[in-house]
Amino acid sequence: MNKQFDVIVIGAGPGGYMAAIRAAQLGMSVACIDEWKNSKDGPALGGTCTNVGCIPSKALLQSSENFDHASHHLADHGISVSGLTLDVTKMLGRKDTVVKQNNDGILYLFKKNKVSFFHGRGSFVRTVDGGYEIKVASAAEEALVGKQIIVATGSTARALPGTPFDEELILSNDGALRMGAVPKRLGLIGSGVIGLELGSVWRRLGSEVSILEALPTFLGAVDQQIAKEAYKAFVKQGLKIELGVQVGEIRTTKKGKEAQVSVAWTNAKGEGQTLEVDKLIVSIGRVPNTIGLDALAVGLKLDERGAIVVDEDCRTSLPGVWAVGDVVRGPMLAHKAEEEGVAVAERLAGQHGHVNFNTIPWVIYTSPEIAWVGQTEQQLKAAGRAYKSGTFPFLANGRARALGDTTGMVKMLADAASDEILGVHIVGPMASELIAECVVAMAFRASSEDIARICHAHPSLSEATKEAALAVAQRALNF
Ligand SMILES: Cc1cc2nc3c(=O)[nH]c(=O)nc-3n(C[C@H](O)[C@H](O)[C@H](O)COP(=O)(O)OP(=O)(O)OC[C@H]3O[C@@H](n4cnc5c(N)ncnc54)[C@H](O)[C@@H]3O)c2cc1C
Repeated sequence: MNKQFDVIVIGAGPGGYMAAIRAAQLGMSVACIDEWKNSKDGPALGGTCTNVGCIPSKALLQSSENFDHASHHLADHGISVSGLTLDVTKMLGRKDTVVKQNNDGILYLFKKNKVSFFHGRGSFVRTVDGGYEIKVASAAEEALVGKQIIVATGSTARALPGTPFDEELILSNDGALRMGAVPKRLGLIGSGVIGLELGSVWRRLGSEVSILEALPTFLGAVDQQIAKEAYKAFVKQGLKIELGVQVGEIRTTKKGKEAQVSVAWTNAKGEGQTLEVDKLIVSIGRVPNTIGLDALAVGLKLDERGAIVVDEDCRTSLPGVWAVGDVVRGPMLAHKAEEEGVAVAERLAGQHGHVNFNTIPWVIYTSPEIAWVGQTEQQLKAAGRAYKSGTFPFLANGRARALGDTTGMVKMLADAASDEILGVHIVGPMASELIAECVVAMAFRASSEDIARICHAHPSLSEATKEAALAVAQRALNF
């Protein structure tokens, strides 16, 4: 007899596991299927985010930042360090422990909320009556029947055509997060969010990092005033960034223990160049993952990118089947996946699940960090919207001076007539935390004057946000 559930979730990444927990909280019987395996072939819940994405990258960003501080910045505080060494194996071990804590945490939450977990690949199977059930391919094959199905199968790294990842020399995010030694020369194709974070990790640990980016603009999706400030900081730190390039043939050569990658490329002036590196990270975007679902067999509609087609409430083309997260349209961000997962579970319970796509924050965890919410100045200009802008540099913020980290600024954009905040863009220390206040403000449709009138603790980096709000009305007090 097939096991019956109110809801079956395929995928235990942020979209899937949050949907499963919320549905269980709302009284539904829930199964969640995930195929990710840890090094011992056991389950590793949390998807890309926990295993090879958000969590391990932030663990290594923290470790590498600590190393960078000890190497270059502690002396400014009168602290001298001698005999500083780097144990990459230990650093990777710590990262793996952090990942495992998160894997185990999700399993614990499933038990606490009575979500039944199945380890294996879930795929749609047509039944004789024209419906479908979900087959779980694992050691003990099982068939599950659900009144509602939520697909949350995420995404995978996009490879360059003709250059598959070998995770030895040509690395995706997976291989880039487990290099056993610091490569002397590291190449990176793509200067997006993930590429910049991974490049920063290894640069801080001592690699010479060269980035080749096809687009002519650095961080084209970011407000360009902020992107320019970040670009200056990254170049000063030693990242070599070439924009507007065309990548040609990529060859790997191995002679005994010596191996290298050679990348033929053309610069923006059309001149042929060659980049020779010890490892190459390819970070040119991610592809929605429907491999193994047998989606087409049951008529689940995909778009030209391979993403599952959904309406604004995450309903697919099949009745009773929903899809959330990286496998559908919209930004590929863990918190966007989570919001959609929770909203779908609430819709299944007859509630009004809601995702506000206008207030989804973005963060790039480099140093300086970059974070934003809402529209950029370029978007407002293109839309012909009248706006006011206020900026405040961290150079004039007492806490930033005390931290010894005064790079960057807060920039606030508000409607010229109503003063409603339309976007906030930050490059600088703790931008990832500072943006939360701005997300709340935008969710409540606050004006810049609202932020300017709110008391902010002194000395704190958040005073820069208040001052940017004051600057919108041309009355910054500390600059
Ligand atoms: C290096 C890196 C850093 C990142 N950093 C950030 C960050 O700082 N902040 C942020 O918001 N986002 C970040 N992201 C993006 C984030 O990881 C994704 O947006 C997020 O994981 C998407 O969640 P999801 O639930 O849609 O899918 P995923 O996390 O990809 O999870 C999908 C799960 O489904 C499973 N699965 C797939 N098919 C099947 C099947 N047929 N049967 C069973 N199981 C299946 C997979 O094994 C996986 O466990 C980062 C990504 C990378 C690569």
